[in-house]
Amino acid sequence: MYPFTYTKASDTRQALNAGRRGGRYIAGGTTLVDLMRETVERPEALVDISGLPLREVTVTERGGLRIGALVSMAETAANAKVQATYPVISQALELSASAQLRNMATIGGNIMQRTRCTYFRDVSAACNKREPGSGCAAREGFNRTHAILGASEDCVATHPSDVAVAFAALEATVQLLGPDGRRSIPFADFLLKPGSTPTREQALRKGELITAVEVPAYPRPLQSGYLKVRDRQSYEFALTSAAVALHIRGGVIREAKVAAGGVGTVPWKLPAVERALLGERPSDRLWARAADSAADGARPLTHNRFKIELLKRTVERQLRVVGGLK
Ligand code: SF4
Repeated sequence: MYPFTYTKASDTRQALNAGRRGGRYIAGGTTLVDLMRETVERPEALVDISGLPLREVTVTERGGLRIGALVSMAETAANAKVQATYPVISQALELSASAQLRNMATIGGNIMQRTRCTYFRDVSAACNKREPGSGCAAREGFNRTHAILGASEDCVATHPSDVAVAFAALEATVQLLGPDGRRSIPFADFLLKPGSTPTREQALRKGELITAVEVPAYPRPLQSGYLKVRDRQSYEFALTSAAVALHIRGGVIREAKVAAGGVGTVPWKLPAVERALLGERPSDRLWARAADSAADGARPLTHNRFKIELLKRTVERQLRVVGGLK
């Protein structure tokens, strides 16, 4: 281990002051502590924010949901409001990690979690995300689990969060508090594709703190759900996944929100699939036709070409499951 300082913030102002001085926020610690043990990350100062009052799930004025950044994954998944209005969020959380991790990990930490690329966690491997300019061992290495969408020459790692896929589909916003005040970012702009700077993963300014994720209101009923395809049925990351939310009234699809996980460097919104569904009547033929564009623009690597077909089938199946519910 190496030396670092630890401060437990007793209020938001204290946390922000420490964050402005370069402290790293920590709450559940389920990602950061692992990475520190492996010396992948070496922060000099930790600021424990677990005591801040960000632990509520509330209904917003417009009828959406506001999930505090420090609500645990398990509490969010079990919350009656979340289950009643956005089952896709509960399902994505319940299919994530292990029960122990879901009890510790927070919503803010979950969307901030770092990639599971094995080369990133192996400090002897070349990795531009860990060591800028060192190269990308995954490009020529074993890249079965890596991205087919949104990658760059410098990095092809997927984003590992499941609930982030649900938030992307539902067009949530991330609420932030920083030295310059409050601001809100659309989820689509919060997580960054690697480009030439794979070390920069979120659109956060120095010292900014995530306070909540807000999910907008949708017309009711909104049928939604999450499907995760993985190598084993527990404690495993997605090869492909699909978050689907549909508002069907009078036998016609009036709203369609769809995103995919396990395939992109960020949760991958599927606007072409959404467009193909709008104004149409549910049918098996429609699900297949809409899902056919799910992998548009994909650029597979040596070992992950299978994800193209798997992604289309994942989306088609989840459209059928959600669209078939009454
Ligand atoms: Fe590192 Fe990204 Fe390459 Fe993985 S894919 S080795 S995280 S640069």
